[in-house]
Amino acid sequence: MTHTLRSLSTLLADGKASSVELCRDYLARIQALNPTLNAFITVDADRTLAEAAAADARRAAGQAGPLTGVPVAHKDIFCAEGWLTTCGSKILANFVSPYDAHVIEQFKAAGMPTLGKTNMDEFAMGSSNETSFFGPVKNPWDTARVPGGSSGGSAACVAAGLAPAATGTDTGGSIRQPAALCGITGLKPTYGVVSRYGMIAFASSLDQGGPMGRTAEDCAWLLNVMAGFDVRDSTSLERVKEDYTRDLTKPLAGLRIGLPREFFGEGLSGDTARAVEAAIDQYRKLGAETVEVGLPNSRLSVAAYYVLAPAEASSNLSRFDGVRYGYRTPEYRDLTDMYEKTRAEGFGAEVKRRIMIGTYVLSHGYYDAYYIQAQRLRRLIANDFAEAFRQCDVILGPTAPTTAFRLGEKADDPVQMYLSDIYTIAVNLAGLPGMSLPCGFDGQGLPIGLQLIGNYFAEAKMLNVAHQFQLATDWHARAPQGI
Ligand code: GLN
Repeated sequence: MTHTLRSLSTLLADGKASSVELCRDYLARIQALNPTLNAFITVDADRTLAEAAAADARRAAGQAGPLTGVPVAHKDIFCAEGWLTTCGSKILANFVSPYDAHVIEQFKAAGMPTLGKTNMDEFAMGSSNETSFFGPVKNPWDTARVPGGSSGGSAACVAAGLAPAATGTDTGGSIRQPAALCGITGLKPTYGVVSRYGMIAFASSLDQGGPMGRTAEDCAWLLNVMAGFDVRDSTSLERVKEDYTRDLTKPLAGLRIGLPREFFGEGLSGDTARAVEAAIDQYRKLGAETVEVGLPNSRLSVAAYYVLAPAEASSNLSRFDGVRYGYRTPEYRDLTDMYEKTRAEGFGAEVKRRIMIGTYVLSHGYYDAYYIQAQRLRRLIANDFAEAFRQCDVILGPTAPTTAFRLGEKADDPVQMYLSDIYTIAVNLAGLPGMSLPCGFDGQGLPIGLQLIGNYFAEAKMLNVAHQFQLATDWHARAPQGI
């Protein structure tokens, strides 16, 4: 099933399908294909169908919004009342959330049933979905390959038509990189646009939730649901509510696209470079001009990120101690022994690696040398973008250096894995919005992603730029065969 949100909305509005019927169809597809893809950690058909029935009742009462009854899947990082919420970890493998994240509340208010909770890298740490306690997700375009990460379950389920759309989170690329590797569209909003309340924290100064769908238009509709001020997140921004679809149809004549020279050099695969070049030509045909811009400090972004993100993670993850919720080791001598065994058994290798790095870089004597230094780099990286946006309206480049790699190919080499996010991480460090959209396929039939980076709060502009590309091309409309 390759419906867009618009087509599903129309089906429901015209009475051609009910939400219960739609959800039954998607649940049947999940049942048939999830054993192969492992995109979902939790499916609860009764709960989904009850929410669908409530959406149908709301429509019958004349109180439906545009998306009422359209189901959506949620990354298992979002707390959802009554749902198992694991964050891909053994340490939360038994945690049923007693409350809803702000994002989940917003989807409920829109009347959109939850199709299930999607698989992810443990605590969103990873670029391949292989660090999940629940096993790796398979890429629907080639099940021997990774879907990207950490929102790999969300990307795979949308690509395979197990859900029309899904939520993701992006700390260093986790919406954009899996969207690229699975051939879908995903958007990471400006930091502070989507509330982090109830979104399990990884690196709080970088984490941001966002939409993953087939098209830019779908992402705009979803962002209308997700965005909004929330007093319970101290970094949530109090801004006038926007309609993110408002600029979709604007022509691109006169648009200035910035091409960062650092994004087109060494390390970029030939197929990806060619597809991105072709996309640039397409934009020129649509009336855009291109200017070369420089992001000289972006080469330092992976290094800065792997100091800052682990530092914040080591602090955030101290709450998982076996006392109030989640996994607790069955046998222990005393309190210290309980903490140690619980955390040793409950966290996987990548999470432990980050807790250790983070604790180290924050410790006395190293704080100035690593943490403060990385914060300085972060400022330089943000300044580069500010300079670039004086010359252009939107920045364009590849999302990821390569297409989907094989399961296991990078699993034993953390640094190679970290480099998957070389084009995405700077955006998080600067707090800017970014998105990925399909722009072609490599020689093996694997999707390639195009990244757009906007200035602060330029989501509507970015969506406009992406939508116009999708009106002129059909990369986003392709679906994996045999799935
Ligand atoms: N792959 C990056 C990491 O491992 C980014 C993850 C993310 O955006 N959540 O930290």
